Amino acid sequence: MKAIVLFGSPGSGKGTQAKLLTGCLGVPHISTGDMLRGEMSRSGGMTNAAAAMQSGLLVADDLVNGMVEDRLAKPDAVNGFILDGYPRTLPQAMHLRGWLEGRGISEVVIHLAVDYNIVIARLSGRRQCPKCGTLYNLVLKPPQRDGVCDLDGETLAVREDDSERVISERLAAYDRQTRPVLDYYRTTPVRMLEIDGSQESPERVSEMICRALKTDDRT
Ligand code: ADP
Repeated sequence: MKAIVLFGSPGSGKGTQAKLLTGCLGVPHISTGDMLRGEMSRSGGMTNAAAAMQSGLLVADDLVNGMVEDRLAKPDAVNGFILDGYPRTLPQAMHLRGWLEGRGISEVVIHLAVDYNIVIARLSGRRQCPKCGTLYNLVLKPPQRDGVCDLDGETLAVREDDSERVISERLAAYDRQTRPVLDYYRTTPVRMLEIDGSQESPERVSEMICRALKTDDRT
């Protein structure tokens, strides 16, 4: 059973790494951000969760915990999963711990550490394919054709919460609510991989993580 927690600030490359790692590990990528955006576009309207997301704040723990539990119960997650963007608060980390403990599983936490200035550069030029989720960056990773996804030709979109004001709010929420989760994991006996996500190409970073996970018989 591979219970992988991909941990890092907004813009640390969690989503990109999670997509690459599903290929190496053969378990699904579970992104709470993608799930919440999917939920918003299906239900329409201005829910509390949509309002929180648009202003860069976190969505309520109960809602996210319930959503993740439902997702983990799906048959494709029976051999494991890669969590991207969850847990993001201490109550979420405790909730996940309880869920895993009940099943005799231990999570492996991958911390993607990225320099603050690089995070800002990544987030402010970001574009995403609304259909397949592939991420681009105007400067660091432009699409072959301006504004169009390389994989399916869909017009790329700017995420609503990638405006400058909302980016700084998201980073503040990370410092306030999510960084303590890292400190919590550092004091518990879970396995942690500290990865420098600043320098290497995403493919190199992913290879490093994959190799480390495959040599670990606890995963
Ligand atoms: P990023 O990590 O780049 O901020 P995500 O797509 O992971 O982007 O998340 C986007 C937004 O979705 C967050 O700013 C937050 O409002 C909400 N969100 C995602 N995951 C969680 C979570 N585990 N708990 C609370 N809110 C979440």
